[in-house]
Amino acid sequence: MEKNVIIICHYVDIYSKTCYSKLERGGFLDVIVMGAGPAGLFAAQKIASAGLQVLLIEKNNEVGKKLLVSGSGQCNFTHAGNIEDFFDKYGDKQKTVKHALKSFDNKGTTNFFKRLGVDYEITEGGKIFPKSRKSSSILGALVNINKLNGTVIKSNTNIKSIIEYDNMYNLMDDKGNSYCCNNLIIATGGCSYPQLGANSSGHKIAKQFGHSIVEPKAALTNVLTQETIYQELSGVSFENVSLTILRGDKKIKDKKGDLLFTHKGVSGPVILNSTRWIQDKDRLVFNLVNMSYEELDAKFEKDFQNKIQLLSYFKKLELPKSFCNIMLEHIGLDVHMNCANINKHQRKKLVKYLTSLTLTVESVGPLATAMVTAGGVNTKEINPTTFESRKQKNLYFIGEVVDVDGDTGGYNIQIAFSMAYVCATHIISKR
Ligand SMILES: Cc1cc2nc3c(=O)[nH]c(=O)nc-3n(C[C@H](O)[C@H](O)[C@H](O)COP(=O)(O)OP(=O)(O)OC[C@H]3O[C@@H](n4cnc5c(N)ncnc54)[C@H](O)[C@@H]3O)c2cc1C
Repeated sequence: MEKNVIIICHYVDIYSKTCYSKLERGGFLDVIVMGAGPAGLFAAQKIASAGLQVLLIEKNNEVGKKLLVSGSGQCNFTHAGNIEDFFDKYGDKQKTVKHALKSFDNKGTTNFFKRLGVDYEITEGGKIFPKSRKSSSILGALVNINKLNGTVIKSNTNIKSIIEYDNMYNLMDDKGNSYCCNNLIIATGGCSYPQLGANSSGHKIAKQFGHSIVEPKAALTNVLTQETIYQELSGVSFENVSLTILRGDKKIKDKKGDLLFTHKGVSGPVILNSTRWIQDKDRLVFNLVNMSYEELDAKFEKDFQNKIQLLSYFKKLELPKSFCNIMLEHIGLDVHMNCANINKHQRKKLVKYLTSLTLTVESVGPLATAMVTAGGVNTKEINPTTFESRKQKNLYFIGEVVDVDGDTGGYNIQIAFSMAYVCATHIISKR
């Protein structure tokens, strides 16, 4: 071992030993982090790297269970491109995420893991994965750096109560052990995937300290529709579709992206990234052709002068055959019809179908199986430059426990790291 490595290990040993002995004596630790997902693990290692005593408490018998299943076990941990392009990937929460993302961006994330020996690769669509394509590479690196920096990790520990006195905290677990700290970070995640440890304990703690909770709901999930006629289209997809969400006559949101028909409804990025806004009974209006009604009508008027079979013409437009069959059946047109025989009324029906296909939402996928929870600790009550509670000093909320949810593509794990970074930096600066 090199000399400076020995010195570092020696100090780290002292940090964790002091931490352990303080724990044994019931002394005050600098920081306790509750929840060992990406947010908690990242915050803990950073704070410990500055020589502060950090205890990371995890309810499960193992840390980072959700991180392990992320990206189908491959962990899409961030996204490529300029960090400015991330800002609108968190619904209406730009104000909450901007500072954190700028302070610790996607390059910060890839550099961090590269320094820990985890190389990465970028997919065509910009998703970033560890080169090993194993989420265990990311989790392993986070756990190792925590151990190296002197974080004490205590898994299988269920905190039953938290008492605050003069902005300091006393936590009691279900075995009767108590832990005291000057700063408390809540990184307990959202409510989806309870089998991986998710629960609403973070929200309950927030309520205890006077916070309001934005009703948790499923995000990054499928939508079931009332219309069942599209069942045959299960697996058929459309690229770069425009979606408008309507509630009654009110327009809720516009979004663009790829659409996938499923057995009982719709999915694909345009749906996954919109579920945070979608409610039962909403109407989803799709423009499947990336052209306005007027543009498509003018195109059809011109093109339909040619004697070509409708289905052959739609094939040229790259519209899936199975979809065209259903569309023609709906409109009451024979699939063998020739374009030249379509009258104005029929043409307009076709144009309307392709530019404003409307489906009614039966339900939005259940919270338990949603990839992310929308809702959580109200962002108005948290300082976005530190993630400290505006209601309770020395109390912090980071990661999915907060009412912030990202689009699919690595945006959720990135924001967990970015929030953890600014929170940790702030706590270190208070010394
Ligand atoms: C199937 C699936 C795939 C996903 N894929 C991706 C992806 O590829 N890319 C991406 O960016 N995002 C992905 N996500 C979302 C991403 O995993 C989460 O947004 C992210 O893990 C949130 O991090 P977190 O640290 O805030 O919370 P979590 O990862 O949920 O960690 C919270 C931790 O706190 C613990 N905990 C809870 N309550 C307590 C308590 N009272 N005391 C102590 N510990 C407690 C939990 O057991 C858990 O370990 C995916 C999610 C799922 C479910």
